[in-house]
Amino acid sequence: MIQKEKNGVIFYQFPNLEKYTDICHGIFTRKGGFSISPFHSLNVGGNVGDDRICVHQNRQAISNCMGGNDLVYLRQVHKTGVVVISDTNYDAGGHATQTPPEGDALVASIEKKNLLIQTADCQPVLLYDPVKKVVANIHSGWRGSINNIIGHTVDTLKKTFGCTAGSIIAGVGPSLGPCCAEFVRYKKEIPETFWGYKDDSDHFDFWSISRDQLETAGVLTENIHISQMCTRCNTDIFFSYRREKITGRFAAVIGLR
Ligand SMILES: [Zn+2]
Repeated sequence: MIQKEKNGVIFYQFPNLEKYTDICHGIFTRKGGFSISPFHSLNVGGNVGDDRICVHQNRQAISNCMGGNDLVYLRQVHKTGVVVISDTNYDAGGHATQTPPEGDALVASIEKKNLLIQTADCQPVLLYDPVKKVVANIHSGWRGSINNIIGHTVDTLKKTFGCTAGSIIAGVGPSLGPCCAEFVRYKKEIPETFWGYKDDSDHFDFWSISRDQLETAGVLTENIHISQMCTRCNTDIFFSYRREKITGRFAAVIGLR
């Protein structure tokens, strides 16, 4: 990952997305924001117990790093809903009075809207098709993984925008790594078709699951970048629900300029 900094706020970029000048994107950290412990400090989660004014200031700081454009949110529910954002249905910038749509993936081909996914261990997955000029941002926790929200989102790009999977560039952001994704109740929670991704100590490799789901959808191996940064191992940089329980959510953002 490539580390950038703007207005004193650090964020990471995927090397395979960084070269495209018609998009902006960033994986933000927990640093550089306004919230106090245990949400210190760049928390964008509005329903985790943090002060609303701090959350608003944090979101504004992120917007400022991403060209000042509106941030578009979802009410993330760990399902497979894909929300296509058009000129008429976007939520303009996290105002408390507006209720974001329910879903776990955002897709847009309109400019100046930055799609934001918030996580603390779940995978944020960024997609960009430079041919059709479409961006997507996916929230894939373990429930999203076993229900293949990645595949559902790529399907939307194909069916709604005529994208070819071979053109899509993908980045899998910081999330719970195979070092920390222990599922002691996996026999009840994870379908047997995924048990091949488990080691002898019941740790699952969700990064490999995402890579395989992207490839099954037709995304080329060479167009996939996995950050391989584990959130639970790096709570100085990222929020981790597994390690901290009461904590914030960091932001993954992508949008057309
Ligand atoms: Zn780890």
